[in-house]
Amino acid sequence: MVRAITDDGSFRVVALRTTETVRAIAAAQRVKGEEARWLGELVTGTILVRETMAPDLRVQGVLQSATSRDALIADSHPDGGARALVQRTRGGSLVLGDGAALQITRTLPRGSAHKGVVQVTGAGGVSASLMAYLQESEQVASAIAVATVMDGDAVVAAGGYLVQLLPELGEGQLAVMTARLEDFPPMATLLRDDATTPESLLAELLYLMPYAVVGSGALRYQCRCDTQRLRATLGTLPPKELESLIAEGKDLEIECDYCHVEYRFPVSELRAILAVD
Ligand SMILES: [Zn+2]
Repeated sequence: MVRAITDDGSFRVVALRTTETVRAIAAAQRVKGEEARWLGELVTGTILVRETMAPDLRVQGVLQSATSRDALIADSHPDGGARALVQRTRGGSLVLGDGAALQITRTLPRGSAHKGVVQVTGAGGVSASLMAYLQESEQVASAIAVATVMDGDAVVAAGGYLVQLLPELGEGQLAVMTARLEDFPPMATLLRDDATTPESLLAELLYLMPYAVVGSGALRYQCRCDTQRLRATLGTLPPKELESLIAEGKDLEIECDYCHVEYRFPVSELRAILAVD
């Protein structure tokens, strides 16, 4: 990820490649084809929004199916780690084009959240939905392109950019940028070229516009689960539930929905948790 701002204060640009992150997430969630493409774009877009609007906050993007409570959930953290979840309900299906909804949530300090929801169109995809979200919820004008390049079920590449129009923007610069973006190759085409890096994207987007790189960072797939956190969650269960688990006499097995790592709590440990309660 690279973040830059033009010297005249007209534009802020964030460019990133998320190939490894998206590939690992698609593998962890066992998604393929179109679902993997949408999930990759949601993850990339959620990271873009965080890096642009709230680098120090956790940002989540939810793509809610048009027809059910099924959803794709992307979770992006300030340390560059991202994970995702495909939420499936019994009998539901993921309809991610027209009629789906995109919700972006920023988790503010002290746990409160800032939310915005926009309707998705199949033609506009995640990119257009994110632009609408930024315009409607944050009053930010932007141009966004995210893409996941698939070869059958395999993730070949993923990435994107966000150009934010800043208050200093003059009509001249806006006209130049508008014309440039109209001629800009589709993100998927750019990503297929191994020579495309976040730095080269910046250089092309801001060609002949002096700018300074103001931030950069590594992105990666990272789950946030661990034994301690799960133990703390178990500690919040009503004592009766813990007692009945103990009465069953079997180890409790819990699988993380994000990374599918399995955690095992022996009865002795459940007793200890109950005692602390
Ligand atoms: Zn996990």
